[in-house]
Amino acid sequence: MKTKSKPETGNMITIIGGGIGGLTLANALQHHQIPFRLYEQATELTEVGAGIGLSEAPIKIFDRLGLGKELRANGAAIQKVFFPDKNLKVRREIETKSEMLCIHRARLIDILQEKLPADAIHLSHRLSDIGIKNDTTVLHFENRPPLESECVVAADGIHSVVRKNLFPEINIRYINQVIWRGITTEPMPEGFEDSYIEIWDERLRFLTISIGHGQTLWIGAKPEPPGGIDDPLTVRKNLLDLFKNFHPDLLRMIDTSENFLRDDMADLGTGKREWHKGPVVFLGDAIHATTPNLAQGGCQAIEDAWCLAKCLKKYRDDYHTAFKTYSELRKPKVMKIVKDSWLFGKAAHSGNPFLHYGFRLLLSKGPEFILRRQENFLNNLDYLEKI
Ligand SMILES: Cc1cc2nc3c(=O)[nH]c(=O)nc-3n(C[C@H](O)[C@H](O)[C@H](O)COP(=O)(O)OP(=O)(O)OC[C@H]3O[C@@H](n4cnc5c(N)ncnc54)[C@H](O)[C@@H]3O)c2cc1C
Repeated sequence: MKTKSKPETGNMITIIGGGIGGLTLANALQHHQIPFRLYEQATELTEVGAGIGLSEAPIKIFDRLGLGKELRANGAAIQKVFFPDKNLKVRREIETKSEMLCIHRARLIDILQEKLPADAIHLSHRLSDIGIKNDTTVLHFENRPPLESECVVAADGIHSVVRKNLFPEINIRYINQVIWRGITTEPMPEGFEDSYIEIWDERLRFLTISIGHGQTLWIGAKPEPPGGIDDPLTVRKNLLDLFKNFHPDLLRMIDTSENFLRDDMADLGTGKREWHKGPVVFLGDAIHATTPNLAQGGCQAIEDAWCLAKCLKKYRDDYHTAFKTYSELRKPKVMKIVKDSWLFGKAAHSGNPFLHYGFRLLLSKGPEFILRRQENFLNNLDYLEKI
């Protein structure tokens, strides 16, 4: 169905949320010379003190946006993936065949906002409610006058206000696993420089990786129901106790970290859903949050943004076709990742020894082509060439 799209601000796209997805979309729209305005609840554009891993597809998208050089200069390339035991005795080593890197989240956000016009970014705008009247959206912000828009992109994260209003039936699903992240200036253990380490021991997981600028990110995870809170006075000691049987180099990373971020791992499930309603379309965690087990949530938000901008460019006067094309192209890849990530997390922390050791065996001894197939699947951007 064709829409009569004549928004009040000259076909302006309104983005809600200035995280990785919203800011990548802003860059991609700018790349296609499509006007936009972005509303973010925070007083500044930044991210939590942790790192983020990016696979080849989002790196290629950064190249197309002219941001690849800054990305590589500010992150750390990953050359090898190791699956050692808790004493760092290597069980499996895999050479990466595609480009991967890890970067501090705040530096990633800086790169994404650097080339955007300041007057298109509206900070301290917290969306509280949204209504749709015919083909127009009315956006209500806390302590601000309402705003009308004929094309809204909801990039407001896993707790999306827009989704709760338009698709209240979609619920957050907890996997009953808790994850801690910290950043240290301790280097990667000797012999593991430029590498990513992933350790499974009993029902614990420990991962570590360099994020450039002399910093190292570590991640620890264990099974636990959601809702727990850390006491800042004891969290360091508790984490050192939890991983006390792990190699001293890894414990030193925990011990030397200034802050400890804690998250309950969650996604939005894999149930069938629309990704758009009337003049509103969703991207990133707002519509398909995934557990961090495959480190793909941010990568997929970036790919969404690239795909959506291409669709909006192609179907400039017909938002509905743009939204439909975008969601049909993106859903199969994203929903498979959400499903695989959930299963991977279940297996990694499973109390069922057959599942846990079977999966561990697959990782440490399974044929390499299985891992390569997954790598190729994640890296594929060819399906977007159709647009
Ligand atoms: C422990 C952990 C590790 C992870 N590791 C990786 C990894 O290595 N690689 C990877 O690719 N992904 C990773 N992820 C996932 C990744 O962080 C997310 O998928 C990604 O941040 C999603 O981006 P987004 O823009 O969709 O949402 P968000 O990053 O959540 O951004 C949403 C933005 O919207 C704003 N906002 C929210 N509500 C409102 C409102 N009402 N009004 C205005 N603004 C609003 C927020 O302030 C925020 O700026 C990890 C996640 C976790 C929890």
